[in-house]
Amino acid sequence: MKHVIVGASVAGITAATRIRELSPQDEVVLLSGERVRPYGKMSLPYILSGMTWFDNCALRAPQGVELRLGATVDGLDTAARTVHTSDGRVESYDRLLIATGTSPVIPKVPGSDLSSVVGIRNIGDIEVVRKCMASSSEKRVILCGAGLVNAEVGDALVKLGVPVTYVVSSNRVLSQIVDREASAMIEQTLNGLEVELLKGEDIVEITQRGDFLEVRLASGRMLRGCCVVYGKGVRPNTGFLKGTGIEVNKGVVLGSHLETSAAAVYGAGDAVETDDILLGEKAPHALWPVAVEQARLAAQNMTGHETAYPGDVLRNILTVFGLTVFTGGESTRDEGDVYRDTRDGQYRKLLVRDGRLRGFVFVGDGVNNPGVYLRIMREQTDISSLLTPLLQGTVAHADLYPSVFRAAL
Ligand SMILES: Cc1cc2nc3c(=O)[nH]c(=O)nc-3n(C[C@H](O)[C@H](O)[C@H](O)COP(=O)(O)OP(=O)(O)OC[C@H]3O[C@@H](n4cnc5c(N)ncnc54)[C@H](O)[C@@H]3O)c2cc1C
Repeated sequence: MKHVIVGASVAGITAATRIRELSPQDEVVLLSGERVRPYGKMSLPYILSGMTWFDNCALRAPQGVELRLGATVDGLDTAARTVHTSDGRVESYDRLLIATGTSPVIPKVPGSDLSSVVGIRNIGDIEVVRKCMASSSEKRVILCGAGLVNAEVGDALVKLGVPVTYVVSSNRVLSQIVDREASAMIEQTLNGLEVELLKGEDIVEITQRGDFLEVRLASGRMLRGCCVVYGKGVRPNTGFLKGTGIEVNKGVVLGSHLETSAAAVYGAGDAVETDDILLGEKAPHALWPVAVEQARLAAQNMTGHETAYPGDVLRNILTVFGLTVFTGGESTRDEGDVYRDTRDGQYRKLLVRDGRLRGFVFVGDGVNNPGVYLRIMREQTDISSLLTPLLQGTVAHADLYPSVFRAAL
């Protein structure tokens, strides 16, 4: 049996490892569009800030796997069971895994194709930002969008002492994952830093002026920066699926066993969408631990060890500008019973419906056991007796099984 995996990041490497564990006799070919050896992308902001370095973030392909770098898949023939790569080769497969992740969306405005305009997804993007900061007479970095990735990039730049301007089209930061109150708290923290926040604005033109960029905003205001970093959403890397009939929505649409709509083709990681337990519909989850679990289970199905994927819930955890932001489920919404606690300079919110946790937001020091919140949401546990410790962030795994815990004491 021959397995071809498209994409050699965490999903691709995890799947290759699992296939080797389960079927060591099988052939595994790992195709990477990148020319550098695999690495963990969530470390990129930390590489930028100098907290870690590239070699420290390496992901190792297991022994016995053929890793081909610089082999971008640009065509798939599901009838012939072959993929075509940018280096002109054709690779046949018995089972195929799509693990191609996403790319940042860079809106088309005059100048957005300049080399100093990027979105952060690959190590090359970090190198562009570093080069611009080193070579331009203007040190300021302009961040367009204040979502998850740009929040982490901004935090890294602040740690480096680089002045930052956020250009945000909505009227608040992190609007996709936190509610208004939490945005306000994060914005208050930004006030004390070298961070300029321009809300209700958008970039309409970027012009190279010598060694810096001049950026025109919708209001007519002009900014100067050494580079522009877009963080306004992503799209799945699925161009090579055109014409195959494989269903793609916000990601490659997967069934209960992580299979696509084409025979023998599976998916995992940021490029796919799967069942969201809370929403009751398919959604991309775009998180490292989700990519790992999906890749392991997809590999099991590819090697004949049938395993259903249970689905997952939306959540995020990040520490930026000295604050831990932990969110999950319907974190931006207020439909249901809302419990808030803003004591001690913290922001804590639970959204509950029918005794079940539907969403939460914590901004400040974080919670003791983040895993408990995910478990409660996944299992839709009745939390009526746990409201206080859940809201205070002190809930523990043992609280879910009080009778077992008491018996063990
Ligand atoms: C800056 C940043 C910070 C993040 N922080 C966090 C965090 O704090 N916590 C967390 O859980 N997650 C975080 N993430 C998300 C996490 O990194 C992703 O969930 C994870 O990398 C997804 O892995 P993947 O293998 O599905 O895709 P990716 O890591 O995106 O890798 C896909 C690979 O496929 C390659 N590829 C694409 N198209 C082709 C093709 N046609 N042919 C061959 N190869 C192709 C790409 O070049 C890439 O190497 C962060 C991501 C970024 C970018």
